[in-house]
This record gives sequence, C-alpha cells and structure tokens, in this order.
Amino acid sequence: MTRQPLAFIDLNRQQARIRDDLDKAIASVLAHGSYVMGPEVRQLESELAKFCGAKHALSCSNGTDALGLILRALQVKPGDAVFCPSFTFAATAEVVVWFGATPVFVDIHDDTFNMDACSLDVAVQTAKALNLRPAGVISVDLFGLPADYDNIEPVCAAHGLWLLSDAAQSFGATYKGRKLGTIGIATGTSFFPAKPLGCYGDGGAIFTDDDALADLLVSLRVHGQGSDKYDNVNIGINGRLDTLQAAVLLQKLRIFPDEIEKRNQVAERYNAALADVAIVPRVPRDLMSVWAQYTIRIPPGRRAPLAAALKQEGVPTAIYYPKPLHRQIAYRAFPTAGNGLPVSDRVAEEVISLPMHPYLEPDEQDFIANIVRAELS
Ligand SMILES: *Cc1c(COP(=O)(O)O)cnc(C)c1O
Repeated sequence: MTRQPLAFIDLNRQQARIRDDLDKAIASVLAHGSYVMGPEVRQLESELAKFCGAKHALSCSNGTDALGLILRALQVKPGDAVFCPSFTFAATAEVVVWFGATPVFVDIHDDTFNMDACSLDVAVQTAKALNLRPAGVISVDLFGLPADYDNIEPVCAAHGLWLLSDAAQSFGATYKGRKLGTIGIATGTSFFPAKPLGCYGDGGAIFTDDDALADLLVSLRVHGQGSDKYDNVNIGINGRLDTLQAAVLLQKLRIFPDEIEKRNQVAERYNAALADVAIVPRVPRDLMSVWAQYTIRIPPGRRAPLAAALKQEGVPTAIYYPKPLHRQIAYRAFPTAGNGLPVSDRVAEEVISLPMHPYLEPDEQDFIANIVRAELS
C-alpha cells in the first residue's frame, strides 16, 4: 500500500484543529477594520510578555527586523565587532552588516549546534587583533534549543559585551527555569509560518526587561516616531506586525504549550528509535527545546543516499545548513574565531533534518525511522 507523502512541517493538521477559531478571529478583524496596530496587536504583546516572563514584548514585521531594530537601538556602528555563529540562518549576520559593523564568526558545540563560549573568547581576541571594538554577541538558540548561557554570559561580562538572543527558532524554550525572552539585554524571535510559533505570513517580536530600550524600540518600529508618527525623533523603519497576523497568533498561542509538549514527545520517539544508528541531538540538563528542527548527524557519505531513500518513500528531509555563513560568498570576507571554525565545517557535512511537528503520529515516525535504520545499519 502506498502512503500519502508526509509533510516536513504539517501546518494543515494544526489549521484543522483550530480552523473555527481562526475563522472567527479573522472575521473579527475584517469587522472592526483596524488593520494596522489594531487591538489584537496590543493583546498579543501582552500575552507574549506573560508567556515568557519578559517585561516588554513588542511585535514587529519579521524576525530579521526584530534583530535589526535591536542593533539599531544599541547603536551598532562601523568598527564594532559583533560575535555570532556561522552555523545559522543568514539573517543573524546580515543585520550586523546593515549597520556597517563586522560580524565575527564563532564556532559551535557539535552536540547542541549552539555557540561554544571558548570559541567566543578566542573570537574577541581575533577582533582586537584586527582593531575592531568588541561590542556584543548574538547567540542563536538553534533548532529550538537555548544556547549555553551559563558559559556565554561570563565571557560577555568579562569583555563588556551586550548579549542579544536570536530566538527566531526557539520562542517557548526554557533555559534552567528561564524562558527565552528574558536572557541578555534583548531577544528577537520570528513568527515565519514554519517556526514553532508561526503566523500566516511574516511576523516577529522583541523582548526586553529594559524600559529605556523598550521605549526606543517603540519609536524605531514606526519611523522613529516621537509623540506620533508625524513627529520624528529617530531614524526608524516601518516594522509593524499586521493586525490579521496578531489575530492568527493569538489563536495559535492558546495551543502552543500543548504543541511544545507534543514536539518533545516526537523528539523522544525519534531519539529512542535512532540513537543506535545516528548521532541524535542532545538536550543539556534543565533545558527544554521547542524542536524547530529534529537534526541527526551521520557520516557525510551516507547523507545523500539516505535523503534519496526517504524521498522515494514520500518522506521529505532538509539540510540545515549545508554551508555555514563563513563559507558563503556574501560573508566569507568576515573574520572567524582564531584559525577557522572546524566544528561548523564538519557538522555542515553531517547534518540532516527529519520531519518534525506536533502532529506527527507514532506510526508515521515508525515508518520514517525504519527507513533510516535500514539505510544506516
Ligand atoms: C528565521 C530566522 C531568522 C529570521 O526570521 P524572519 O522572520 O524570517 O525574518 C533569524 N534568525 C534565525 C536563526 C532564523 O532561523
């Protein structure tokens, strides 16, 4: 019997679950007609803040703008070195270059795919040797898992660096009792449809406990407005979230805690089925991932045949990321920590991500795992 092809991220099953509520929420926006900065935007911001425990939550246009607005508020400028991983989505480093600053790429741990604090310390020396001013760190909480903050924060403190969390893939995750959104000077996240909490278009949010920073971000988000948008006191952008997207997110946020639990069950089932044939992802003690991706490591030569075998059976896979940023044409001229990033280079050859979403059924996972096992054992 042939099966229906599986989805890599099945947004249709989620939509079926809450379709009536979504229809009502969207109809209500169409009825009140306040499409920009409508009441749902404020309500979403207050619920997001409550959800993660941050003092301020500001919705915005997308995850990239969330990071860019924060860097603008922190007055990042030419001559500044901003440290970030290379094994990430391009947006993390892109925003640094927007302001004429220099991204300095830092290596990662091969078991969590997140920033290695020792490599960060080396990168600070690299930046100083290049006469750059070490300014701050963008740590990425990759694939849904918080970075190693207990070791990153002291390096930031020792060098006077601000810390910004790029939680685009990991809103909802927990680091030793702290929800992402409360770590560092500020956090940016994304509501791109495929992220763990996604809308039906582009969206993002910024979190901070710093009142002055929050005030400045409110201004920058709407063209640097002062008392209103025709009073301009800063150079800003149009960085607002649409009311319709806020209405969708409010409905999705209601089921988000349950979805996080389901994602963790899916990851546990994969781990149990695959730990003896592949290197499965590790979640350090007292951390909770929201599993934006479920990514295993296998010998480089086995990756293309495995992807082909899965595809043959209607199972999609993805490679996040085939080429780290320091190998990309747009970014390869920027410095790397010390003599290069051996771990980032190696894992880019080994990673493959399997379908991951809250609605993946045990029998579907068995089907996927059996193909992987047959290929790898
Ligand atoms: C998705 C993503 C972004 C950008 O978010 P957008 O909403 O697509 O702009 C930034 N950083 C990381 C690590 C991401 O995965």
